[in-house]
Amino acid sequence: MCYAIPGKIEKIEDNTVIVDYFGEKRKALNELAQVKVGDYIYAQGGFVVSKISESEAQSILSVWKETFFELQEVDLRLSRLSLNDNDADKKLLGVLDKASQSKELTRDELLYLLELKDNNALELLFKTANFLRQKYHKNSCCVHGIIEISNYCRQGCQYCGISYHNKELKRYRLTKDEILEAARDAVEVYGFKSLVLQSGEDPGYSALELAEIVKGIKEKFPALIFISFGEIGTGGLEKLYQAGARGLLMRFETSNPKLYQQVHPGMSLESRLEHLRKAHEMGYLILTGGLIGLPGQSKEDILDDIFLAKELHAEMYSFGPFIPHPHTPLLRHPPARVEEVIKVLALARIIDHTNAKILVTTALETLSREAARSSLLAGANSLMLNVTPLAYRPFYSIYPNRAHQSEDISTQIESTINLLRSLGRAPTDLETI
Ligand code: SAM
Repeated sequence: MCYAIPGKIEKIEDNTVIVDYFGEKRKALNELAQVKVGDYIYAQGGFVVSKISESEAQSILSVWKETFFELQEVDLRLSRLSLNDNDADKKLLGVLDKASQSKELTRDELLYLLELKDNNALELLFKTANFLRQKYHKNSCCVHGIIEISNYCRQGCQYCGISYHNKELKRYRLTKDEILEAARDAVEVYGFKSLVLQSGEDPGYSALELAEIVKGIKEKFPALIFISFGEIGTGGLEKLYQAGARGLLMRFETSNPKLYQQVHPGMSLESRLEHLRKAHEMGYLILTGGLIGLPGQSKEDILDDIFLAKELHAEMYSFGPFIPHPHTPLLRHPPARVEEVIKVLALARIIDHTNAKILVTTALETLSREAARSSLLAGANSLMLNVTPLAYRPFYSIYPNRAHQSEDISTQIESTINLLRSLGRAPTDLETI
């Protein structure tokens, strides 16, 4: 987004470049044909996405120069951790102290954290996760844009408002031109550097057509492209990778095969996992995770979910609450509780402290307007803004009353910038080296 900071290439080794951000060195993969040492670039998700002129870079950097270090100070202050609370439970302090030293926690210790209910205990857990986030990721926060290109879906996921169960829903499918126009706005007008293209499992687009769309975006509006079209098969993944897609957003939803079967009739967990594994082998960045609050889901299941996301090489963890939709079979099942979800984000940070980018989902923001702030202070470091044309957004009704549904992009960007500034976060999503 426009909040992104350009970096200067310091060194090139094969297809890897070392990028300087005000003295901090970060690493990215380069696939652009013509870059040389001294060029200014934008990078996202570990990939160089575009080059910009020195004069343009200098003018953006001069605005950032002051604030870059001020933000780091704010973040450092907000993420300080003190585990000297005499009133706190000794077991809790012991486990969190171990976590804060980046030591691996046992399964029992992790389950104990997942079971916490007391507000003071939760606050200490969240602070520990925030401390680890700062220690390994500094104040980086990545911000993606998402375009929901179609709400047609051939699957019958029991919780999902765009599954074929919902006969009340008006269906839409953006044309190639509409998608390119939305991508143009996101990249050229609003400055997004990475875009997620998402839809239900819509047989109305062939893999070839989707590949044409991705190629069209890559050629005209350089950005890191993530695809999220469900299970499109190995052939589909290959075509889209060749077209320039570099990330796959696909949750496995739950690691419990029995529960998976129950809420996804006719689908198979193994095939979804196979899809994720194949995508990783092909070089896709993997964004995955699950739904919290499914019927009968246990704390053990949730812990397994976090470990499964790690095993699948999640570049980004996407865990969000189940929210009931009135036109689905799960209409009467209650939504997940906000603290339960933030606990999962904190645990993901503790389990995968060095690698994880952890997303604050719109579903969580739908349950609480404070959730983005609370999650960013509990280990999360990633956001996704909705850049779908406003006219279509109400129809991408996976659950009701989605947060930001009727907010235009500028409003979302403005409130995101204000939030990130207040927390001392900066939109450089490459890891320091
Ligand atoms: N078709 C793609 C796929 O299969 O991954 C992407 C579209 S799907 C609608 C996107 C995500 O919406 C799912 O991974 C699911 O977790 C989430 N979702 C669907 N219904 C939901 C609900 N009622 N509450 C919260 N999240 C929901």
